[in-house]
Amino acid sequence: MTDSLWNEGDPIADHAAPDGPIETRWERRQFEAKLVNPANRRKLTVIVIGTGLAGGSAAATLAEAGYHVRSYCYQDSPRRAHSIAAQGGINAAKNYRNDGDSVYRLFYDTVKGGDFRARESNVYRLAQVSVNIIDQCVAQGVPFAREYGGLLDNRSFGGTQVSRTFYARGQTGQQLLLGAYQAMERQIGLGNIVMNSRHEMLELIVVDGRARGVVVRDLVTGEISTDLADAVVLASGGYGNVFFLSTNAKGCNVTASWRAHRKGALFANPCYTQIHPTCIPESGTHQSKLTLMSESLRNDGRVWVPLAGGDKRAPGDIPEDERDYYLERIYPSFGNLVPRDIASRAAKNVCDEGRGVGPGGLGVYLDFADAIDRLGRHAVEEKYGNLFEMYQRITGEDPYLVPMRIYPAVHYTMGGLWVDYDLQSTIPGLFVVGEANFSDHGANRLGASALMQGLADGYFVLPSTINDYLARGPFGKLDESHPSVRDARHSVEARLEKLLAVDGDRTVDSFHRELGHIMWEYCGMERTEEGLTKAISLIRGLRDEFWSRVKVPGTGEQLNQNLEKAGRVADFFELAELMCIDALHRAESAGGHFRAESQTEDGEALRHDDEFSYVAAWEYGFDGPPTLHKEDLTFDYVHPSTRSYK
Ligand SMILES: Cc1cc2nc3c(=O)[nH]c(=O)nc-3n(C[C@H](O)[C@H](O)[C@H](O)COP(=O)(O)OP(=O)(O)OC[C@H]3O[C@@H](n4cnc5c(N)ncnc54)[C@H](O)[C@@H]3O)c2cc1C
Repeated sequence: MTDSLWNEGDPIADHAAPDGPIETRWERRQFEAKLVNPANRRKLTVIVIGTGLAGGSAAATLAEAGYHVRSYCYQDSPRRAHSIAAQGGINAAKNYRNDGDSVYRLFYDTVKGGDFRARESNVYRLAQVSVNIIDQCVAQGVPFAREYGGLLDNRSFGGTQVSRTFYARGQTGQQLLLGAYQAMERQIGLGNIVMNSRHEMLELIVVDGRARGVVVRDLVTGEISTDLADAVVLASGGYGNVFFLSTNAKGCNVTASWRAHRKGALFANPCYTQIHPTCIPESGTHQSKLTLMSESLRNDGRVWVPLAGGDKRAPGDIPEDERDYYLERIYPSFGNLVPRDIASRAAKNVCDEGRGVGPGGLGVYLDFADAIDRLGRHAVEEKYGNLFEMYQRITGEDPYLVPMRIYPAVHYTMGGLWVDYDLQSTIPGLFVVGEANFSDHGANRLGASALMQGLADGYFVLPSTINDYLARGPFGKLDESHPSVRDARHSVEARLEKLLAVDGDRTVDSFHRELGHIMWEYCGMERTEEGLTKAISLIRGLRDEFWSRVKVPGTGEQLNQNLEKAGRVADFFELAELMCIDALHRAESAGGHFRAESQTEDGEALRHDDEFSYVAAWEYGFDGPPTLHKEDLTFDYVHPSTRSYK
């Protein structure tokens, strides 16, 4: 079966990336990029899909620069984007703690943390720009936590030995998003951004090879319309909900990216999924989502399981010498702050050994007793109060008195649309920012670096690089009568009609849940050739069943959430197959992609740099399998080595 699952295409290269000393690459690219003079910016329009941290910051900054911006989101307000859920913090190489941090160290940690599957140039730029983000957000009034003396406070996240994470209690995403939202609102007020909430982009319009617009559906009235512009920016977030259960907001989906992929944008590293180690364990089949307990909790919480398998005693009855603080034992240098992929697999291993706790044995303890003894309850409450309260409300257990129970869950997707150094996809004029692109995290994202990347992309990188493209515009008048515009619109209408016409007997959710089970079982924390091959045939079977049995009640001319979900799940089916193909072809373990056939003697991920040191960029296969284009990765500064946190 594997032979016919994909075709091998030509290699792909990032032609926008400058060479020379890494410290000056970004500055040089900015200097070499064309500029658009302020008067000409007023003649140009950019569509931004998404109002999370990436899209919100991009829209505000582009509008501030003088471009016309039209923004879209499917929520009822831009500030309800999923970014609002981010809890723990945002990294920046400010070295306020004077603990040895630097731009270079953040760069180094991120390349290593990503298991040497990210681009050095991009990551270095990310580390450079990180320091500007904090200044920008402080200037906006984002209430970062402060120390006693009034300086901004920091805490640690996984995969690092310094404290570089800026935070606003357990609500960092919310506070940052309010900053970006205010900046957007200012521009909305000035008429430079036209905000379209409760609209879903269902198709990309490509004219003469360039992205020129989108087809959207008004989610309240069902009206389909087209919007045309000089460039399109996708900031539509990640696709973790392909697993059905994840820590993502329920609305997160892949449709905007997938529609672009079908129009020619390559999709990179789709199999790289982050499984977060500290989530509240699943409590039954009724659940539709999982809840994250921020990684910041591992600063003070200690992870353990009983030493003996099958020990059913209450945690407080298990004496110290009968506990296994397994992360501290196996990884003494990083202890509880090992990166997420490592901590997740370690939790799975101890549960597989029969030492898991809680219902079904799928849980490990995250214990704050030591921290409360050392710092006092008040100090712990100050740092994590809202997270503790959330845990108590969901589980009914008081984490100040008994350890939290946690288990890994799907959390983030490192894969996404392929972009070059300018954040431009393989479709000219289509830029992709934030979690929707694949750019900076390699095979594993370090904690607190998604917010950093989203805001780096939106506030600093895109507003600079998009000029180089727009300087060649305007790209010719266009109206609704253009055949490419009409075709795009008709394809959306036909697809909605097709979904409604099935009129079967199974709910959309039941398909989504079953798809999620397949993905978690075979393309989750551990993958094998046999399992992935099986998953592909199960997904195909279920997809066929979906198109013959799905029931979408109601019509297209009204608020119809079943119709919205059906379209998203239909795209998830196609994505899921590509994820499994990508996971199958990558016969190595790297970061969030653990192939059971490729592990060291002590069960750690085993990369094969000689064969797989590349970005896998996939081209959609309309009449056959997808085509793989490889972008070689070179490491001139951080040389690939076996990642060790011991
Ligand atoms: C519970 C949780 C906690 C987290 N905590 C942290 C943390 O502490 N630190 C950290 O660095 N990262 C954290 N992350 C990850 C981080 O929050 C996300 O990666 C990041 O916020 C994504 O931002 P974004 O702007 O790319 O996308 P999102 O915030 O997901 O925004 C997507 C936007 O696109 C819009 N959209 C999508 N599709 C369409 C469409 N078809 N049409 C119109 N609009 C569309 C949506 O309406 C939305 O406005 C956390 C994630 C979770 C789930």
